[in-house]
Amino acid sequence: MEVSDRILKIKPSPTMAVTAKATNLKAQGFDVIGFGSGEPDFDTPQNIKDAAIRAIESGKTKYTPAGGMLEMKKAIAQKFSNENNLSYELSQITVNCGGKHSVFNIIQCIVNDGDEVIIPAPYWVSYPAMVEIAGGIPVIINADMDQNFKITPKQLKENITRRTKAIVLNSPSNPTGAGYTRKELEGLAEVLENTDIIIITDDLYEHIIYDDFEFTNMANLSQSLKKQTLVVNGVSKAYAMTGWRIGYLAGDESIVKKIETYQSQSTSNPTSISQWAAIEALTGDQTVVHNMVKAFDRRRKLIIGKLNEIPGMKCYNPVGTFYAFPDITEIFKFKGWKKICEKYDDKFNSSILATYLLEEARTAVVPGIGFGDDKYFRMSFATSDENIEEGLKRIKAAIGKLV
Ligand code: PLP
Repeated sequence: MEVSDRILKIKPSPTMAVTAKATNLKAQGFDVIGFGSGEPDFDTPQNIKDAAIRAIESGKTKYTPAGGMLEMKKAIAQKFSNENNLSYELSQITVNCGGKHSVFNIIQCIVNDGDEVIIPAPYWVSYPAMVEIAGGIPVIINADMDQNFKITPKQLKENITRRTKAIVLNSPSNPTGAGYTRKELEGLAEVLENTDIIIITDDLYEHIIYDDFEFTNMANLSQSLKKQTLVVNGVSKAYAMTGWRIGYLAGDESIVKKIETYQSQSTSNPTSISQWAAIEALTGDQTVVHNMVKAFDRRRKLIIGKLNEIPGMKCYNPVGTFYAFPDITEIFKFKGWKKICEKYDDKFNSSILATYLLEEARTAVVPGIGFGDDKYFRMSFATSDENIEEGLKRIKAAIGKLV
């Protein structure tokens, strides 16, 4: 059987090799500490589970409108109004099967063959693939740790062409944990305002923020920017609901309508039961979110402190998310590095280091190359304090052998 040309364009994620090796080692009974997972380690809060159970028991188990139930859209509109000071009509909101699905749907519905979509790097792994699936061209703008992983207005301007259709902004960012301040967004907005460029904001980590970082969306800056912006959010990260598959988006009514049509011919509605659970998440008691963020914050301090003690590593202090993204370039200059390269024979340095850490330290991290930058790796600190203590001890010892 022959697959389509379109699907041949999609490269397998370079992060998969390390994940497969980690799974393999675990299956053989090795004690591997995982820092790869992109999801909260907490269980979904009980009030949310109860809402789902009530939905099942009261027979709310049938199709809903393809773009989500009216009750769900009302809860989302209320969330945008209360938390983001953004007012949307229900016709400007649609519900999808996870935040990933929301971004995918948008890209499918706006990108023509050859259209360019600007993606700041390091980026979340799926954005470039989604653009390529749609026949578009990802235009990557690199933003290293020396610029706090944030693109500048100058860089943005230099990368805009007549074919630029959209930009994807993810703040706070997976994998870097960097977040744009209002002032920084205003700088980018000056370049984007009064153009036809669609601004897609992926706000999945909106609530997982630290210290005095204040979350702002482009749509908050002016009415015209709000019209230009499609805001994506979801319940996966903030409410520990990754398995429930609910995401949503808001913006221009004509695009939202097309997305609903597209969805009606593909997945149809997001699960009815999950929608009832998500309504409870958005409208119910929010203290669980604060408690999770408090735990993530404690772990953030622990892991960043320990990473910065390891020879050859420099780690940015994330303002949001549950990811650490250390710069590992100094390690490539260590005496023992050449030997490791010969042993693992991989063209990407971050993959070589990840494989070494897996075999030598029994710790699983994600190579930066999957996020568009080979000078880093990603560690999720959505894991226990004990795992962080033990894992970092092992990593430090393994790196110590290379110095
Ligand atoms: N956007 C970003 C930046 C993410 O990190 C993720 C998940 O890792 C998603 C979207 C997808 O979220 P969901 O599980 O709701 O599809």
